[in-house]
Amino acid sequence: MTPSLGDLPSEEFRRFAHQLVDRVADYLEQIEKYPVLPDVAPGDIRTQLPSLPPTLGESMETILADVDRIILPGMTHWNHPNFFAYFSITGSGPGILGELLSAAFNINGMLWKTCPSATELEQVTLDWLRQMLGLPKEFWGIIYDTASISTLHAIAAAREQLMDLQIREQGLAGRAEVPRLRLYTSEQAHSSVDKAAITLGIGLAGVRKIPVDEGFRMQPKALAQAIAEDRRQGWRPFCVVATVGTTSTTSIDPVPEIAEICEREGLWLHVDGAYGGMAAVVPEMRHVLAGCDRADSMVTNPHKWLFVPVDLSAFYTRKPEILRRAFSLVPEYLRTSQDHQVENLMDYGVQLGRRFRALKLWFVLRYFGWEGIAARIRKHIQLAQDFAAWIDADPNFERMAPTPFSTICFRAHPPHMDEEEALNHLNERLLEAINGTHEVFLSHTRLHNRYVLRLAIGNLRTEEKHVRRAWVIIREKLKEVIPGIR
Ligand SMILES: *Cc1c(COP(=O)(O)O)cnc(C)c1O
Repeated sequence: MTPSLGDLPSEEFRRFAHQLVDRVADYLEQIEKYPVLPDVAPGDIRTQLPSLPPTLGESMETILADVDRIILPGMTHWNHPNFFAYFSITGSGPGILGELLSAAFNINGMLWKTCPSATELEQVTLDWLRQMLGLPKEFWGIIYDTASISTLHAIAAAREQLMDLQIREQGLAGRAEVPRLRLYTSEQAHSSVDKAAITLGIGLAGVRKIPVDEGFRMQPKALAQAIAEDRRQGWRPFCVVATVGTTSTTSIDPVPEIAEICEREGLWLHVDGAYGGMAAVVPEMRHVLAGCDRADSMVTNPHKWLFVPVDLSAFYTRKPEILRRAFSLVPEYLRTSQDHQVENLMDYGVQLGRRFRALKLWFVLRYFGWEGIAARIRKHIQLAQDFAAWIDADPNFERMAPTPFSTICFRAHPPHMDEEEALNHLNERLLEAINGTHEVFLSHTRLHNRYVLRLAIGNLRTEEKHVRRAWVIIREKLKEVIPGIR
């Protein structure tokens, strides 16, 4: 019998799809059966996989069995309610269903014509989200994969705004008439700002890091001074990246003052609100985006704190025409008769092809609703404030930064133990012991050269009992690390 050349037969697809949905539902329902961190060493997964590609097809049964046997034991479970590391996220049920559908449709939304629904749903869902965040209606939105890529596009647009330099056409290298370009961000900014500078020919030397105050917020006075000094020395300042919710401590830069400076100096203001920006969905948290209405662009990540599966980053700008000018390049075979009437999203960035990401955002926004989403984010903030209060009340611990959102920075600091090196060593061992339980997962950062533990709450399954359990484990492990402590 000649094997058929078609796809997985429909009957089989149906059978395995039903099976898989059941497995996914079981997995999510029983997530606490799994250790949040796997007990594996580097290479453990790889050595179980054949080094040669399969010559003949294999049955779906065997493939699925290997998911259980090889893949699951090597997973760090981001769905686990005890995942408190980095920024905790959620691929919610409606988001997973939207993702399934977008995989099935498998469109490429590069042009309006290549899938009108994809372009138009993207525009509508991003406008809904804009309203939920309280941003001005001039803000035009587009979906990219990650905040890093959103910020790259922001800085590319900022560079394009320097029209006299004609960088799009002439490039930057080997041109004596082009001054060195300077971009400003705080010492606490995300590494994606540096990466964008590397990519765009600004170079790391073109990124000036502005010092922060005691709450880890950019100091506007220092920013203004840096710009003046740079101008005197022949640099061409062009962009400022402020952060709402920095990655280490979730501090909020004073955007109103920074916006003032940018307006005065004619600089593009981009706001990185990858995590913290989403809190503005909660009406009483709107203040975190104060001043952002004056920004030229902003990013916030629905895949971080809006329960949408990775990846989906929302980018807004009040100057889409500059973004378009930076990137639009239309080969003949991609011209359509609707080009004058529609937005072709390929014109607004580096990538040509685009997944139908808006579907999962649409599912999430509709299923939970604005109120439902706000209630969930509010709960995370409440849990974090409770945890911060427990830290503050315990003489063996101290909080290392303000807690404006749902992420707490703290360390063990037992009385009479004040030597910084010893404290760093202690906290490093403490984190190792905590994560060594495989029951909870926390991460760390370094602030003023101090080793600091971070506990971030952002998963829909995380309840008060999980945060309480984490607190019990942290205190138990401190007793193990320092025998005799009370
Ligand atoms: C997480 C984060 C990023 C990076 O997000 P990606 O989507 O992974 O690129 C950038 N900036 C801030 C402030 C973040 O918290």
